[in-house]
Amino acid sequence: MKIPGSYIAAVAVGLIASSGLTAADDLVLSGWGLDAKNMETFLEQAADVGFDALITGSTDPEFLAQAVEAAAKHNISILAYISPMGHIQRAWREAYPDVPIPWQVMNDDEEAAFNFISAGDNSYIIPYQWGGEAIMTNEVLTNRAICFSSDAARDLFKPMIDNIASVPGVDALGFDGFGYQNYRRCYCEECQKRLADYMAAHPDMPEEEASVNYFRDALVGYINHLAGYARSKRANIKTSIHIWPVFMPEPLYGNRLDIDYCGQTAAWYTLWPEEKIAEYSRIIVQDANNYYPRQQGVGMIGYYDRPGEFPVKDAERVDMELRTMIENGCRRIQVCSSIHVVNSPEIAEVFRRYFK
Ligand SMILES: [Zn+2]
Repeated sequence: MKIPGSYIAAVAVGLIASSGLTAADDLVLSGWGLDAKNMETFLEQAADVGFDALITGSTDPEFLAQAVEAAAKHNISILAYISPMGHIQRAWREAYPDVPIPWQVMNDDEEAAFNFISAGDNSYIIPYQWGGEAIMTNEVLTNRAICFSSDAARDLFKPMIDNIASVPGVDALGFDGFGYQNYRRCYCEECQKRLADYMAAHPDMPEEEASVNYFRDALVGYINHLAGYARSKRANIKTSIHIWPVFMPEPLYGNRLDIDYCGQTAAWYTLWPEEKIAEYSRIIVQDANNYYPRQQGVGMIGYYDRPGEFPVKDAERVDMELRTMIENGCRRIQVCSSIHVVNSPEIAEVFRRYFK
């Protein structure tokens, strides 16, 4: 975070309104992705774009310590994320080589959709949203994710969090991919049983509402448990997330999380209308403290330079999205992928105008 001395002085004497701050002074940009192969060059370029923080998927303390040291030269913070997809798959196979991974279970229609979407180039032909707000009935994510009722799987995150928290320079534990593969729920035996218990405890609640509430709260409780665990390991560690895949019954549920930097999608990879970007930005910021005082609402913008696969966002489009988010109150912004932003000169220039 770039805090000029004049800003701190202004806060100290309560004169912030008359301090002559420009908008960029309090805008914070974090990016998903750290180019580990060209780390020095990448960090220099990222700093030149205005990145304040970068989020990496490595949980290796040695790598993280190196990244922290290299990034510090450019005033960039390093965050490290865990995910119930790739990370947990590797950890489970090591811990329980003979036991099947407790993936979330989908129903037959969703599995059929999974097979269709995964086949060939189908995901690039249909209006697939990649875990963003779905347009098609039965859109599902093509990544498997662990079931949140498996306590054995949940405990496998703890050594990863220990590793991350053990590197003092790592500012925050990140969360990515914490959601349901079918954007709603899991159908495994244990989840069915827990849902039945929940319904028995809430006999007046209609079935659909009970399912939404149960699976939303199970996901929220799971993330909050791991965030609390991280703070038990290092009291000053921050937490960060991007809410993905979407929870369709309540896309902006992120404010229920006891997380410091709660990234919720304000501008997806597919081209959302300006009014929707504005509305979501306002909600992300205004409702951030409905449940927890530590939370700061963060607007997430998707940017991939993968023409033919993802809709093309030109500089004008990216400028409209960033401007709309900022004008509607977002002071903290996350982008994925930071690598694509840094490597696209015209897009990097747009970000530079706001964040450098
Ligand atoms: Zn389950």
